[in-house]
Amino acid sequence: MAKTKAAKAVATKGKYVYQFGKKTDGNGSMKPLLGGKGANLAEMCRIGLPVPPGFTITTEVCTYYYDHKRTYPSALRAQMEAGITALERQTGKKFDDLKNPLLVSVRSGARDSMPGMMDTILNLGLNDQTVEALARKTGNPRFAWDCYRRFVQMYGDVVLGVQKRPDEDHEPFEMVIEALKHERYHQDIEDTKLTVDDLKELVARFKALVKDRVGRKFPASPWDQLLGAVGAVFGSWMNDRAIVYRRKYNIPTEWGTAVNVQAMVYGNTGDQSGSGVAFTRNPANGVKEFYGEFLINAQGEDVVAGVRTPEPVAELKKHLPKAYHELERIRQNLERHFKDVQDFEFTIENGVVYMLQTRNGKRTAMAALKFSMDMQKEKLIDWKTAIGRNPADQLDQLLAPVFDAATLGKMTPIATGLPAGPGAASGRIYLNADRAVAAAAKGEQVLLVRLETSPEDLRGMIAAEGILTARGGVSSHAALVARQMGKVCVCGAAAVEVDYQARTVSVDRRSFKEGDWMSIDGTAGKVYAGQVKTAPSEIVAGLVDGDAAARKTEKFKNFQQLMKWCDAATRMTVRTNADTPEQTKAAIAFGAVGIGLCRTEHMFFEGDRIDAMREMILAETLEARKAALAKLLPYQRDDFAGIFRALKGFPATIRFLDPPLHEFLPQTPEQQADLAKKLRVPVDRIQSRVNQLHEFNPMLGLRGCRLGIDYPEISAMQARAVFEAAAIVQKEGIKVRPEIMIPLVGFKKELDLQLDVVHQAARDVQAERKVKLNYMVGTMIEIPRGALTADEIARSAEFFSFGTNDLTQTALGMSRDDSGSFLPHYAELEIVKKNPFATIDASGVGQLVEVAVEKGRQTRPNIKLGICGEHGGDPASIHFFEKVGLDYVSCSPYRVPVARLAAAQAALSTKAGD
Ligand code: ADP
Ligand code: MG
Ligand code: MG
Repeated sequence: MAKTKAAKAVATKGKYVYQFGKKTDGNGSMKPLLGGKGANLAEMCRIGLPVPPGFTITTEVCTYYYDHKRTYPSALRAQMEAGITALERQTGKKFDDLKNPLLVSVRSGARDSMPGMMDTILNLGLNDQTVEALARKTGNPRFAWDCYRRFVQMYGDVVLGVQKRPDEDHEPFEMVIEALKHERYHQDIEDTKLTVDDLKELVARFKALVKDRVGRKFPASPWDQLLGAVGAVFGSWMNDRAIVYRRKYNIPTEWGTAVNVQAMVYGNTGDQSGSGVAFTRNPANGVKEFYGEFLINAQGEDVVAGVRTPEPVAELKKHLPKAYHELERIRQNLERHFKDVQDFEFTIENGVVYMLQTRNGKRTAMAALKFSMDMQKEKLIDWKTAIGRNPADQLDQLLAPVFDAATLGKMTPIATGLPAGPGAASGRIYLNADRAVAAAAKGEQVLLVRLETSPEDLRGMIAAEGILTARGGVSSHAALVARQMGKVCVCGAAAVEVDYQARTVSVDRRSFKEGDWMSIDGTAGKVYAGQVKTAPSEIVAGLVDGDAAARKTEKFKNFQQLMKWCDAATRMTVRTNADTPEQTKAAIAFGAVGIGLCRTEHMFFEGDRIDAMREMILAETLEARKAALAKLLPYQRDDFAGIFRALKGFPATIRFLDPPLHEFLPQTPEQQADLAKKLRVPVDRIQSRVNQLHEFNPMLGLRGCRLGIDYPEISAMQARAVFEAAAIVQKEGIKVRPEIMIPLVGFKKELDLQLDVVHQAARDVQAERKVKLNYMVGTMIEIPRGALTADEIARSAEFFSFGTNDLTQTALGMSRDDSGSFLPHYAELEIVKKNPFATIDASGVGQLVEVAVEKGRQTRPNIKLGICGEHGGDPASIHFFEKVGLDYVSCSPYRVPVARLAAAQAALSTKAGD
């Protein structure tokens, strides 16, 4: 950002309109007030880029609008009039003028860009008189009427709400255009081929359509048009699409949108003009190349709408070499100034380039990684900034599977399109968003196939594994949204024919029905028939399988560099939740430095163990139970030994059995009869034990340490298994660091009773095997009483691990398994901003964590603190845990890289005082 004094300007009270152009009031740091688009238009003016003049109506007006029954502050009108006057002065044109009319665009712009969510109106200010004036002034009636036709169409759609009805598959205005083309030309011709007369006829028919649908005439006065358009932008902040988008990306409703009113420049005056969208580098794969596309003789919306497929920006070198060089210069300037990859929109009017927008480009995880590494090498950014440039919640895209190379070699793609979102996806095809959502809800793998996507398809895109479109370029709506969501996407696959009515897709005489399988490779832009096998990404292949070829790839090396920097920046370490040696090995390969949670109950399900487990549960006497436990002991010992070996000296937090026991017993009469036969016990004994174990609320029943307190012999067996395994592996020369964790402790006494059992087993095993073992005993803090009495508990516990899943359930009084029935509604109403089981409820549950940290450290200053709930792999939660000062987070093996990145980022921003 510019370091001028003015750059620090802040909101002035009562100032609702900020100008940009010759005089610029705002700057790039004012996104909350001016929205992303408005702030950057101002910033571009400040650094001398060619921007058509305009003004921004602030987000405060949007807030006011909704707080005051959709009305405006009284001072707004005069400030807008001053804004228009300033435009008139700078352009030499006049609003509502019959000689040289000023036309404007009305553009929404929230703080964060929301692709496709808000609609832009171009050529505002035209009516039956000003259109003639524009035609005379430019000597180009075709152009003037093309503008008018576009204006009535956009205004009719966005402001007056003439849109497709639920039973229609096409926009009504497009239907009118199509009808006229067929009437007059008997075929689909390009819009640029329409004559003045055609365009005049279209304007007349459009107005008739508006009259018919809305019941009133199209507004002729430019000021009425302008006020209507501004209202529509503010109104669109609350439309369904915007709400869905905000919910997905956790954008608060309070932010509001700004409105930009800007003098028009024209890309549709002829073949010396055009419009385009470009990135300073390739946002799909990260390559440093001028990337983008343009359409000759077109206004901006044409490029993004995906109706005509545009040409790559490099082609501009041939068509309009001067404009191309100007754009190259701008591309360099943008990166030098913003120090990040920019996504920008431009229009060329009679050979002259104008900038209409710039923002940090959305990118795939793969591109983000390469950008960050390259820009650090180019000294545009330092290594710490490079870490921050990789969105943690996108990183797992890099670990996503690709199509299996061997399988793919044998297949021929049926179509080729543009590689718009990398990765591999296979799914059953669906041609509309609602049906895609319904199929995904049934658990199907879905591929959304559309001619082109529009914002209404957002729900379907979220539900789909991948998106395939027949039309549209790399900056089409589909591509943009896919890139942002990390969806696999191929767009503009022209050979794909989509028939919405018949619900079929045909490619090269092959036909596919909805529900049939297709596969897309979003890295190569290829489409395949049927389901294709996938293979692990190079990073997984290189780290977990030690694949030498994979380790030589640029992607792998960049990933390793990033992780190395993360280690240098991080304060917290990352452990893993793993129950088997395989999971442990994978997690260590990803950089985990220990196990934060080894759940022993999973170990009882495999093979014959379940029988011994059932025997133990069914046992009626202590002797019988001990006999069954003795059968389980060797299994547990072997499991632990395997895990200790895989850990190679890293610590392992092992949680003792946390029932529900009834899950181990057969529930149906047939299964019970089978088990009775196997164990040679009467079936009614099994039934009565099942009934006896039945709990009205298993979540609050015989959970955690309560089992070990009722049946200490179970804990004794587990402790013995841990220590015997430790002794065995230690004798093999491998360091072993078991940390025994007693679950669900709310009272210090609970922990003490279990500690006695554990220490006794340790003494016994050490004596029997003549070894000295290094171990710790601690507890899981997962119920509020445990957190509140952490000072007492810490007298016995050598470490705490926050079990935030149960802590959330018990603090909120919500069961994770049952909350699905009301949580989505809660999210809609914004009672909860995020799902509290995915992202920690920092102000509620988080307080319990803070209290426990503080009290725990009061008693035992060096107490080890970690978190092993689901939240341990969630970047926003990790940020919170950094602030609270935990020592480590623990998450599932494939989440480890995400957690390492998030922990490093949290450390950097916490240090920076954010
Ligand atoms: P979005 O937020 O959907 O990108 P924009 O407000 O950027 O919408 O407008 C879309 C396109 O409309 C722009 O890329 C640009 O090509 C065109 N446009 C907007 N304002 C103007 C203008 N003043 N002159 C010419 N074209 C414009
Ligand atoms: Mg734009
Ligand atoms: Mg628990």
